[in-house]
Amino acid sequence: VTQPRAKLCKGCWQNFRIPVPLHGVASVPFRVLGIRPSRMNPNTCTVCELMFTRIMRARQITVDVTVLFADLRGYTAMSQTLPPHTITSVLDAFYDSCASAIWDHDGLLNKTIGDSIMAVFNFPIKQKDHALQAVQVAREIQSRWRRMEVADSLDLRGKDLGVGIGLDSGNVSFGEFGRSHRDLTAIGTVVNTAARAQSVASSGQILVTQAVRDRSGPEIEISGAARPYTLKGLAEPVVLYDA
Ligand SMILES: [Zn+2]
Repeated sequence: VTQPRAKLCKGCWQNFRIPVPLHGVASVPFRVLGIRPSRMNPNTCTVCELMFTRIMRARQITVDVTVLFADLRGYTAMSQTLPPHTITSVLDAFYDSCASAIWDHDGLLNKTIGDSIMAVFNFPIKQKDHALQAVQVAREIQSRWRRMEVADSLDLRGKDLGVGIGLDSGNVSFGEFGRSHRDLTAIGTVVNTAARAQSVASSGQILVTQAVRDRSGPEIEISGAARPYTLKGLAEPVVLYDA
């Protein structure tokens, strides 16, 4: 990931009008206090990550967000046939292309889990149009990956490696969960639905819920076919749109 990053924390500025330097000499006193660029979004800081739990003294908060899951299809099969350094390069390339698309749209790369990632939009940087931003990120991940896939350096020609993506919007609980290993993350039905939508998306496909489609607005067209999917753990079939 090579593009320039914000000099001041976008979250602290947006929420508190406090300029928190992220780089250079001005950031040194902040770093001494443990305030540094967030690993989940380097345009925000570690205070932003915990702003609700620490500053507002709440264990968790309810936030309206869009959740995106992306997963590298064919990775397990590939990892049995390619040398370890190639596998590492593929995974790094996947993480990097996801991260730069997410950060370009002020999202939070909340988790990397094996060959998949989870991103959250509208936290800690607030975005009225977070559903729209998340759909744009999904499309960018797909197009970046298609360009990456044919890159000679990775030599993936003939390998069936694509990305499946799922999105949902709505309220989640954001906080630090887990007794032994504290982990800042989102939980709730929206997270589960986005993860399940990703699991039924085929390679190269983006599947979004009605909520995402309704809220992403007229700026982007989600004209793909809608059909009901039976998702693991959900009693009723869920209608998903090909975005
Ligand atoms: Zn901050």
